[in-house]
Amino acid sequence: MAASDWRATRNRQALLRLERALPPIFPAAVLQHALSRPLVPPTPRLAVESFWRSHVLRADRLARALAARSGAPEGWTWRPGAETGGGGAAGFRAPPSPYREAAHLLGRGRCCVCGQPVYRFGWHVDLWGTGIPNRNAGWHSACVAAWKLWLAPSDQIPALKRRQGHRCAVSGKRLLRTAEIDHRVPLYRVWREHRDAPWPSLLAFWGAPNLQVVNRAVHAAKCRDEAGERARLRRASDPDAAADG
Ligand SMILES: [Zn+2]
Repeated sequence: MAASDWRATRNRQALLRLERALPPIFPAAVLQHALSRPLVPPTPRLAVESFWRSHVLRADRLARALAARSGAPEGWTWRPGAETGGGGAAGFRAPPSPYREAAHLLGRGRCCVCGQPVYRFGWHVDLWGTGIPNRNAGWHSACVAAWKLWLAPSDQIPALKRRQGHRCAVSGKRLLRTAEIDHRVPLYRVWREHRDAPWPSLLAFWGAPNLQVVNRAVHAAKCRDEAGERARLRRASDPDAAADG
């Protein structure tokens, strides 16, 4: 069977499954997106996931807006790596996420990233008017997409390149194929200079507001400067190291 025939057959079957499983109320934008995919997602849940995967910058904005509704738990302060139980083991790769820490878990039906209720298919709005969160869910679909962006922004280079009109954020030159992701404010400096900022405003340092795509040579120069700055800081806080170096 030719690939196009295979796809047509598969999409007919997927569409049938999707239509059978679709509730009377379903986000229209998600359905429209699902039907326009080269491979139609066969379940409503997969349709929602596919939607946020394709709109990762929107997911990032939404996750941070939802987190702002929750605010930080009473008495919480940022300790890197606290949510994994290890003091700083995760370093700064993961953003502060109080609702993933054992002391502040909200339980099923609430999103562990933003702290807000999760509804059917991981949706963030109670479109169905039941007032009852989905007890099987601990993440919004949007927050899953945002979390992935925060932890591995390099996987989202195409979306970030589009946002910049395919121009290097530092030099303004056309982005090359080897272009790389850069945190405008490096994450080590977020800890040093912004650690007392209220959560969730801190999340923006991991999200799109602090992400830029730059050409590799520009990035290498910026990393060199940052490494130099970190070495100076280490020497400043450790006179022995200063004597050695
Ligand atoms: Zn969420």
